[in-house]
Amino acid sequence: MNTMMNTPLTMQVLMDRGPLISPNVEIVSKMRDRVHRYTYADLGKRARQLANALAKLGVKQGDRVGTLAWNGYRHLEIYYAAPCMGAVLHTLNLRLSAEQLAYVINHADDSVICVDEDLLPLIEKIAGEIKNVKHFIVMSNTGEFKTTLAPAHDYDKLLAAESIEFAWPELDENSPMGLCYTSGTTGNPKGVMYTHRSNYIHTITGGLPDLLGLTSTDTIMAVVPMFHANAWGMPYIGTMLGIKQVFPGPTMDGASVCQLIQDEKVTYTGGVPTIWLGVMNELQHSPGKYDLSSLRTMICGGSAPPRAMIDWFEANLGVDFIQAWGMTETSPLGTVCRIKPHMKEWPRDRKLDVKQRAGLPAPGLEIRIVDDNFDEVPHDGQAMGRLLVRGPWIASTYYREEPTSDKFPHGWLDTGDVATIDPEGYMAIADRSKDLVKSGGEWISSVDLENAIMAVPGVAEAAVIAVFHSKWQERPLACVVRKPGADLTKEIIYDHLGKHFANWWMPDEIVFIDSVPKTSVGKFDKKVLRNQFAEHKLETEE
Ligand code: ADP
Repeated sequence: MNTMMNTPLTMQVLMDRGPLISPNVEIVSKMRDRVHRYTYADLGKRARQLANALAKLGVKQGDRVGTLAWNGYRHLEIYYAAPCMGAVLHTLNLRLSAEQLAYVINHADDSVICVDEDLLPLIEKIAGEIKNVKHFIVMSNTGEFKTTLAPAHDYDKLLAAESIEFAWPELDENSPMGLCYTSGTTGNPKGVMYTHRSNYIHTITGGLPDLLGLTSTDTIMAVVPMFHANAWGMPYIGTMLGIKQVFPGPTMDGASVCQLIQDEKVTYTGGVPTIWLGVMNELQHSPGKYDLSSLRTMICGGSAPPRAMIDWFEANLGVDFIQAWGMTETSPLGTVCRIKPHMKEWPRDRKLDVKQRAGLPAPGLEIRIVDDNFDEVPHDGQAMGRLLVRGPWIASTYYREEPTSDKFPHGWLDTGDVATIDPEGYMAIADRSKDLVKSGGEWISSVDLENAIMAVPGVAEAAVIAVFHSKWQERPLACVVRKPGADLTKEIIYDHLGKHFANWWMPDEIVFIDSVPKTSVGKFDKKVLRNQFAEHKLETEE
């Protein structure tokens, strides 16, 4: 006989915990022209006012509420109110093309869109194509915005007219609460619909010491955008724990991030490698300018952080630089790299070998690496296989699409990543399967080569792509960006690579480029590079 309560796993009880236990703790948002501060008590009240306003505009349970916004307190209010009232938070990626943005809004069938004033032009441009959107709510700092969108409401004025009381409805834990689209590096973006249950378990698990490891004594700053896989769950975990949260707004360059960490005494921050490369450059160019001694942990995911960067931050800031792996389809936390106790005393280089890996699976998830017959490949840290994952916060299908057996084989998610697992259980991403260099039937990891090249002094960025070769089908081409003024030659790079890789892994050619193209979430966009070098004839071809 089951003797336990069957209370539904809904986000309401987690979100309300912040205002309940930390009413006076601050939420700080950097705006373009000033810094906005208020408390969790204010957040709780405004989330309820927003729920009242949305209900008056006709938003019902299950309806999608779109957001096109930077990281800030109003965005957090929508993160809070939409799911708790039974609607669905749909975060729109503001770096999508106009065509993709219209596609995503229509595919999701958003009924309302909340948009930051400075992002209005992005929506105005596609207004004629998104006819099902019933209301636009403008988040303006002056209250004096002008727009061609109709009907358009002022966010703050809507809230001001509403009561701070709102009784959250009883919800089924399997009801939808959040919708994110993959950034669609190939084909149309695909939607992943999170449920209260999936996000509840993800939120509680994500805060654990061996995962993000957050406590109420922290001050957290998600630099990763709130439109990118829910900022890795940080706004939810932060609110559940009543942690002081700092939002960087639209300015995410190295100098602005450093200044905000110093001013708000941020202890914990998360972002993609591109952000941290910017911060590292700023600190290297302005030694002594910032006091970042409050910082204890930096989480980095979305693509592989270069080893040299992990080393630099740990050596120079004394922080724990933690790599994580995940994807929109995994809510997104999949693996997090934490050093085991017996590794603590290992020499620095050996510890970095571990830190360079994507980490151990989150409790509750299972991961496998398999060959094309779905047979497990050895966990020796060398053998590469397709990475599969399953668990209660992993997508089982895409929104409004039939599950396909290539993406969701036998009840697992095929991540599209190729990975290794070492005997200690640490997973490392070797590549996205489409980025692997398939040379004469053998696989070369572009990520490993990039990492090694980015450790060479004078290299700012490096991306390795596969280029057609008449004998080997594909061979690696390294596209390297020099640091300004660096005295960097191809020979220096080849010398360095020669110390780490077998001959057949060596790039056939190194070309110097001005910058590596980036995707909408700041990752290296190898599709663009591949197109650029599609007709390239390698020097090694006769
Ligand atoms: P998109 O597919 O649009 O880039 P996601 O943010 O969902 O959107 O990307 C997930 C992918 O990012 C993963 O499948 C993986 O290829 C890559 N990724 C995430 N974290 C890491 C990491 N730590 N190391 C290498 N690749 C990573």
